[in-house]
Amino acid sequence: MPLDHENVIYLDNNATTRVAPEVVETMLPYLSNYYGNPSSMHNFGGQVGAALKDARASVAELIGAAPEEIVFTSCGTESDSTAILSALCTFPEKRHIVTTRVEHPAVKSLCENLDTLTGRKHRITWLPVESDGTLDLEQFRQSLTEDTAIVSVMWANNETGVIFPVEEMAQIAHDHGVLFHTDAVQAVGKVPINLKETAIDFLSLSGHKLHAPKGIGVLYVKKGTPYVPFLNGGHQENGRRGGTENVASIIGLGKACQMAAANMEEENTRVKALRDKLEKGLLENIPKALLNGHKDKRLPNTANISFEYVEGEAILLHMNQLNICASSGSACTSGSLEPSHVLRAMGVPFTAAHGSIRFSLSVYNTEQEVDFVIEKMPSIIANLRALSPFWEEE
Ligand SMILES: *Cc1c(COP(=O)(O)O)cnc(C)c1O
Repeated sequence: MPLDHENVIYLDNNATTRVAPEVVETMLPYLSNYYGNPSSMHNFGGQVGAALKDARASVAELIGAAPEEIVFTSCGTESDSTAILSALCTFPEKRHIVTTRVEHPAVKSLCENLDTLTGRKHRITWLPVESDGTLDLEQFRQSLTEDTAIVSVMWANNETGVIFPVEEMAQIAHDHGVLFHTDAVQAVGKVPINLKETAIDFLSLSGHKLHAPKGIGVLYVKKGTPYVPFLNGGHQENGRRGGTENVASIIGLGKACQMAAANMEEENTRVKALRDKLEKGLLENIPKALLNGHKDKRLPNTANISFEYVEGEAILLHMNQLNICASSGSACTSGSLEPSHVLRAMGVPFTAAHGSIRFSLSVYNTEQEVDFVIEKMPSIIANLRALSPFWEEE
């Protein structure tokens, strides 16, 4: 029988989330009856345009933006690329970018490949992080120069959940006349965001990290921020992103944003309490288990724990046999034997970084699930350690 949400314990919500059944419900009519093109002159298309308008308002509402500041894209990755490339096109003479050593591959890999993509030379400042994953703001301030086109710093880290003070950083960037982008894909829906009160110019979010479908993203572009489109084509999105709208997914995302606003309280109380219970249960019952990332400056749903002297991949295989889903490192770095660039940037020792597991919860998790994981993990780790040549019982 294929696995579905009834028979797995899904603790991998930073990789992707279950599409909320209510979201599916709102999407279905736009995949069947209401297939008109929202740009058409006739009412059959126009009614779809009206539904898009409502969805745009719901997205804007969740992040304290104006509807005109919302640009729908195909994913978080497209939003990240659009923001950074837009700034480079706006200031072709500026060749410096400030980012961090712990960004998602959507930003990291773009920055690494900019010279090839643009045929120009760029200088990237990769801000280091402390051992708890936090940034040094003074070092950030000093990195800004006349030549800096844009700063791109994630709101919350996908692997550790560590939250960066992006509102404060955006203000510092603005004081230096520099544009500021934040990849908020992991933060939206988990922590309150009110962009009206910030200096943030660009913000990326992605539907599938907040219970909407995969393949729909948003780039927030602050009113007045210079902007150059990435996809050129029709007049969709007010000329800011060509391509016929992914109508059903946009409408699903609108619903998901309404639900995220309504669930924000639960995310920060019940989900956080479950995460804390899981974390405490594992750290207390398993020797040589360490929490990666700042204990408090962190998303309410994420716990990244290293089990020293075991392989993350091996742990995941044993968890998989019990239908418990989690990640080692980030989904994009697992599969290679390199430990995660995030944990390396934090200076987590090799023996610990290799055995790191990310547990990421959502409102769909229950206390019974967490109890089951706390019950099963100690023997999984003990059995693997018994096979490890590096592990010696103390
Ligand atoms: C998932 C994720 C992305 C990429 O979003 P996609 O919609 O999958 O392209 C970017 N940044 C962060 C922090 C993420 O967690």
